[in-house]
Amino acid sequence: MTPVYDYIVIGAGSAGCALAGRLSEDPAVRVLLLEAGPRDRHPLIHMPAGLAKLVRRRELNWDYLTAPQAALDGRALWWPRGRVLGGSSAINAMCYTRGAPGDYDAWAAAGAAGWSWREVLPYFRRAEGNARGADALHGADGPLSVSDLRHVNPLSQVFVEAAGQAGLPANPDFNGPEQYGAGLYQVTQRDGARCSAATAYLRPARGRPNLTVVTGALVNRITVRDGRADGVVYNAGGQPFHQPVQREVLLCGGAVNSPQLLMLSGIGPADALRRLGIGVVQDLQGVGADLQDHLDICTLYACTERITYDRIGDLGVAWNYYLRGRRGAGTSNIAEAGGFDRSEFAPDERPDIQYHFVPALLDDHGRHRLPGDGFTLHACYLRPRSRGRIRLATARAGDPPLIEPGYLSDPDGFDLRMMVACARRARDILRRPAFDRWRGAPIFPAREDLDDAGLEAFVRAKAETIYHPAGTCRMGAADDAGAVVDPELRVRGIEGLRVVDASVMPSLPGGNTNAPVIMIAERAADLIRGL
Ligand SMILES: Cc1cc2nc3c(=O)[nH]c(=O)nc-3n(C[C@H](O)[C@H](O)[C@H](O)COP(=O)(O)OP(=O)(O)OC[C@H]3O[C@@H](n4cnc5c(N)ncnc54)[C@H](O)[C@@H]3O)c2cc1C
Repeated sequence: MTPVYDYIVIGAGSAGCALAGRLSEDPAVRVLLLEAGPRDRHPLIHMPAGLAKLVRRRELNWDYLTAPQAALDGRALWWPRGRVLGGSSAINAMCYTRGAPGDYDAWAAAGAAGWSWREVLPYFRRAEGNARGADALHGADGPLSVSDLRHVNPLSQVFVEAAGQAGLPANPDFNGPEQYGAGLYQVTQRDGARCSAATAYLRPARGRPNLTVVTGALVNRITVRDGRADGVVYNAGGQPFHQPVQREVLLCGGAVNSPQLLMLSGIGPADALRRLGIGVVQDLQGVGADLQDHLDICTLYACTERITYDRIGDLGVAWNYYLRGRRGAGTSNIAEAGGFDRSEFAPDERPDIQYHFVPALLDDHGRHRLPGDGFTLHACYLRPRSRGRIRLATARAGDPPLIEPGYLSDPDGFDLRMMVACARRARDILRRPAFDRWRGAPIFPAREDLDDAGLEAFVRAKAETIYHPAGTCRMGAADDAGAVVDPELRVRGIEGLRVVDASVMPSLPGGNTNAPVIMIAERAADLIRGL
C-alpha cells in the first residue's frame, strides 16, 4: 500500500532539512523528505578543512556550468551546488552571517509582508545555537551550532590588522549590533565538525517514526489536479514512483532546481513551456526570472614563508584531526577571516562589500592548483543590480537547466564599477604594512600598477561566483506580476504548494546565504502550522 504523508519536502538542503525537522516535531504529522543525492557519510563533509577537496567530489555536487557570460570575456562559470543530505550546507565554507537588518526591511518594503528585520530576527535566534551564549541578537539553544574557530592561521590575524590599517575597524561579531568591520568569522560547526542543516535538523529527528527520508530520489515533477498539488513523481533505485500527498508539497530544491522543477511541472512562462512540449498548468512569468548572485573577485599574492594552507591536502592534517579530538588545521573553514566594508558608492549605512580572506592560493575555486604558497582575498559586491534567469534546456529533471546569471548586465554599468571598487580595496588592504613580512610577488593581478581600466579587465577575466544564487521564485505582494510566491511562500494560482529556499528571496541579503535560508525555513514551518 502507498504510505500517506501530510507533507512532501523536495530537497534536503539547508531549507529542506530545517523544514522537515521542524514539521516532524509534531508526532501527528507525517513527513516525507526526498533528496536526489546520497547520505552525508563522506568524511570530507564533516572535517571542515575537507571543503578544499570536496569541490572535486562530483557525486556530492550538481557541478553546474553557467551559460557563457558576455561581460566576463565569454567565460562559463562553475557553480557548485550540494547534492547530498544537507545540500549546499554540506559543502559550503561555514561562514555564519545574516546580512544587514536593512536587507530584510527592504524585503518587507518590496511587498514581502512579515519579513522585516523585527519579524525575522526571532527565527534567526530560534535556529541558532551560538557557543558564545544568548543575547538580544543571538540564540544559544537552536539546532544550528555556531562557534568560534578552533584553529586560526596567523595570516588571518594579519588580515584583520591590515584591514585596520586600511581604516576598517576590528569587529568581533558580524551578526552583532554593527556589521561593518573586519574580523574572524563565526562558523557553523559543533565541536570542531561541520554542522550542516542535516546535522542540525535531521540528526535529532532520526528516531521519529513520522519522518521518512529517502536519498537517491530525483523528483521529476509535482502533480497538480484541479489547481491543487496532489503529489510528486520521482525516481529512486531505477524505479518510478507517484507519491500522493495529503496537505502540501514543499519545494526546497534551491535557486537552480526549484524553478526548474516548477517548470517541469507546467508552472512557469507558458510560451517557454509549450516550446518544450510541457503542458501548461499555470502561466507564471516570474518562474526562473530575477536570478541574482554575488559576483566575487580574488586578489592573490605569493607568501614569503610556508605558513599557508597550500598543503592542506596532506594526510597529516586529517590524522591530526581525528587523533587529536578534532583540533588543528582540519577544523579550519579555510575562509577564516573577512569583513564588511563600505565603498564610496554605498547609498546608505549598510556595508556593500564583503571580504573572505584565505591563507592559501585560490584559483578557479581551488580546482586549479597554483605552485607555491600564498594568500587570497575575496571581495564581492553585496547588492548587485544585474538580474539573470534559469530556463529549461530540456524537459527532463536529470538534465541541467540553462543558468544565465547575467553578471554585470545592469544597464548603467554600476555592478562593474562596484567590482572594480572591490578589487581596488582588496589590493589596498593586502598592501598595508601588516603584510610586509609575508607579501611576495603579486599573482592575480600580476601587475601592481593597474588603473581602473586595468582592474576592469582583471574583473572580466577572473571574477567568479561566491555561491549565493537567489531570487528565481521570488516572493512578492498580490499586485506584483513578477512574484512567484506570496509572502506566505504559496505558489500563486496553485493550492497546496509552497517554495521554501533561497529562490524566494526578493533580493540578496548583504552576506552569506545559509543562515538566511534556514531562517526562511524556520518561519515557513510556523506559517505552515498556522502559527
Ligand atoms: C561552495 C559553497 C560555499 C558556500 N559558502 C557559504 C558560507 O560559507 N556561508 C553561507 O552562509 N553560505 C554559503 N554558501 C551558500 C549556502 O550554502 C546556500 O545559499 C544554501 O545552502 C542554499 O540552501 P537551499 O536550501 O536554498 O539549497 P540547497 O542547500 O542547495 O538544497 C537544495 C537541495 O535540493 C536537492 N534537489 C534539487 N533538485 C532536486 C530534485 N529534482 N529531486 C530531489 N532533490 C533535489 C539538492 O540535491 C539539494 O540537496 C555556499 C555555497 C556553496 C555551494
